[in-house]
Amino acid sequence: MRATIWGCRGSLATPGAATVRYGGNTTSLELETPTGVPVVIDAGTGIRPLGLALEECSPERIHLLLTHLHLDHVEGLGFFAPLFRDGCSVTVWGPPQDGSSLAARVAAYLSPPHFPLPFDRFGASIEFVEVWQETWELEGLRVTCAPVRHPGNTLGYRIEEGGASLAFIPDCETALEPDSGLALAAGADALLHDAQYTADEYRTRVGWGHSALPDFAGFVGRADPERVLMFHHDPSHGDDVLEEMRRTAERLAGRPIELAAEGLAIDLASSRDSI
Ligand SMILES: [Zn+2]
Ligand SMILES: [Zn+2]
Repeated sequence: MRATIWGCRGSLATPGAATVRYGGNTTSLELETPTGVPVVIDAGTGIRPLGLALEECSPERIHLLLTHLHLDHVEGLGFFAPLFRDGCSVTVWGPPQDGSSLAARVAAYLSPPHFPLPFDRFGASIEFVEVWQETWELEGLRVTCAPVRHPGNTLGYRIEEGGASLAFIPDCETALEPDSGLALAAGADALLHDAQYTADEYRTRVGWGHSALPDFAGFVGRADPERVLMFHHDPSHGDDVLEEMRRTAERLAGRPIELAAEGLAIDLASSRDSI
């Protein structure tokens, strides 16, 4: 299994000289699948260059898994080239919404006055499937989702293939619920997890939905993944600050910790690959 990070910034896209190493695009992750049909998680601004790359092969089918509908996870959707190509089928999987449907919420965002075109003018055939706490097979991947602690209905995902596993929990306030997402993350080959704030910053941001380094480090200790990557980098944290935070996280967790970076590909050896 290979996962490629196209965006790992939290909250707001942050281009500029201070974010060159780890990237300024908001959340988007590409998963290569055994069937060759692309699976994408989240549609932050990183999905725009991902869409351009996918269009080189003009896939007939694409799956998009959404963690939640905060804008930093959907703001690239209107700029995802496959959505505008006739003959492309896109299935959007995501959490149910209070008082409305997932389809209606996304269509309302991608319609005037927020967006120039009405949603029904997009060329692709777009289908929505609401998921909350379940496991299903998708293009040769085994996908598990479960709610995590974050304002609004929010999912974390665990993706498994041939014995390899990746857990993706970009937005989660671990201090308020220390074991939120633990079943998804436990023993994963790679864990990408919210590590947005320093301990000092978190004191004034309780309830904003994100994890501070001490709580992140505690969660990593309980989940005990093979690799762990800090995710959802704060817009105010330039590359040098992120590297200092990584050293702090390593001290707190007592183990190696990496920073998610735009363009980074994570290769997870599956037992199938080694046969
Ligand atoms: Zn977010
Ligand atoms: Zn969020």
